[in-house]
Amino acid sequence: MPTESSNDFSQLLRQQTILAQFGELALRSDSLDEILTEACRLVGEAFGTDLAKVVELQPDGKTLLVRAGSGWKDGVVGVATIEAKENTSEGYALKTGEPMISPDIDQETRFEYAPFLIENGAKAVVNVIIIGGKDRPPFGILQVDSRKPRQFDDNDIAFLRSYANLLAATVDRLRVIEEMKDGSARLRLALEAGELGSFELDLASGEITRSSRYDQIYGYSTSPAAWNKDTALAHVLPEDREHMAAALRRETLIDGSSLQIEARIRRAGDDAVRWIEIRGRADGGTTPPTRLVGVVADITDRKLAEEALTTTNATLEAQVTERTISLGESNAQLDAFAYTVSHDLRAPLRAMEGFARILLDDFGSGLGKEGERFAGRIVGAAKRMEVLIDDLLAFSRVQRSEVTLQAVDPARSVDRALAELRASVDDPASIKLEVAKPLPLVLADRVIFGQAIGNLIANAAKFQQQGEPMHIVVRAERRADRVRIWVEDDGIGIAPEHQQRIFNVFERLHGQETYPGTGVGLAIVKTGIERMGGTFGVVSALQQGSRFWIELAAADYGATSAEMGESVSG
Ligand code: ADP
Repeated sequence: MPTESSNDFSQLLRQQTILAQFGELALRSDSLDEILTEACRLVGEAFGTDLAKVVELQPDGKTLLVRAGSGWKDGVVGVATIEAKENTSEGYALKTGEPMISPDIDQETRFEYAPFLIENGAKAVVNVIIIGGKDRPPFGILQVDSRKPRQFDDNDIAFLRSYANLLAATVDRLRVIEEMKDGSARLRLALEAGELGSFELDLASGEITRSSRYDQIYGYSTSPAAWNKDTALAHVLPEDREHMAAALRRETLIDGSSLQIEARIRRAGDDAVRWIEIRGRADGGTTPPTRLVGVVADITDRKLAEEALTTTNATLEAQVTERTISLGESNAQLDAFAYTVSHDLRAPLRAMEGFARILLDDFGSGLGKEGERFAGRIVGAAKRMEVLIDDLLAFSRVQRSEVTLQAVDPARSVDRALAELRASVDDPASIKLEVAKPLPLVLADRVIFGQAIGNLIANAAKFQQQGEPMHIVVRAERRADRVRIWVEDDGIGIAPEHQQRIFNVFERLHGQETYPGTGVGLAIVKTGIERMGGTFGVVSALQQGSRFWIELAAADYGATSAEMGESVSG
């Protein structure tokens, strides 16, 4: 095969000179096209061929575009493409990363060549890959073409490799520069979108370099000639100035720390008072730091909105307070009214009952059967009304009385309630009550708590299944810093749909004949417990018994009625 070798000393020297020349250019220029074109010219010169090109791998990973070249006819550089297929020397070079040499294209059996190559008279070609940056695909291939068949020896290949590597480093450097330019363009866009002015304050000299938006925020349409920390501070209203000056004092700033500060300024031009916010970062790698880099924003609109909100809130609060007071007043009046009425009703009621009794006792015979029955009903009705008035008074008291919280032993209250209940029934022994001792102390008002427990135990004893004596259990459960006291019975139970309404005054589920009562007891329990900061509820189902619970703050961690040496009857 006819070849032309160029492996002599002068050739080597030429290659070295060209490497050096190219190195200089690569450092000097920031234009990729200029660098690539010059690279092609120089390498062509080094090999004594006037044909060379750089083909760039496109994002599809298989098309190579002739990005730069020297010695080519029009319509090649920037236009011609090569498909990097298996049967091309380019495809092979990309795949293996190894240089590929075709000393004589006409004799080549391994590869096919692009038509433009033949048309431009290329007879021999060598391909060397231009690697990409870290974790990137190759940039492309450096190709030296020759119009005559020729051999490329090891020295040629070594030179081409160094050359291509230098090219790769240059391409990567330019890519980083492009990305930085892109990054700062994006930063500028973000600053513009946020209407932020940017600045850099030299903490030692007080000099400020800044963007035009910064100047606009301070009220200048053109940059003022002299501007530094002092001129900036002069715009700050006197009442905010010291605060701002202190924040910017170099000695108090820590390297790497962030700063955020709001202040009012008087704007140049229209003299308007505006709110600004400065956010910055002190740095420089020394303490105290050397500079503060940051942004400034006009936050007047936000401040006005905040102020409007605060005013609205204050008005709302004032209205709520006013209404709460007037509601409290009318509640108090209503309470007082209920109390007086109940109280004043008692005297005439007693009189009614008393006279009815006199009628029965002293004039019974003259009344006749009918008359006796009516007089008897007057006495009964008066008695029920008295109970009702007593309950209403108790309800009114629980709403109005002072609440004095102290450590209360529930077992004692149970004891007292049981004694009172037994005293009021015909068959005290029929009430079976069991206390799961010891019970933890609760934080409660002794009187209100005693009344609540008394009402629950009285109900538990009352709502028994037909003829079945009641079995009542009182037990307690610790719930973190609270105590839940359960009063459980095995009586008639309560259907779920009625469980909430029975806590209201006068709500009852039965007639007077089956279970007498006024419907006030549970309302007293609920109001009283809630006034002590507790909660009250029930778990029940029809015919399944009822389990009422009261939950209050635990008075004491650990101490119980047993430790206090008290005994509880069961
Ligand atoms: P009173 O007992 O005077 O009727 P309460 O307010 O104490 O009024 O109770 C309201 C209603 O709740 C009762 O009428 C009854 O229907 C139901 N109730 C209360 N406690 C129990 C209980 N332990 N078992 C079944 N029902 C109950």
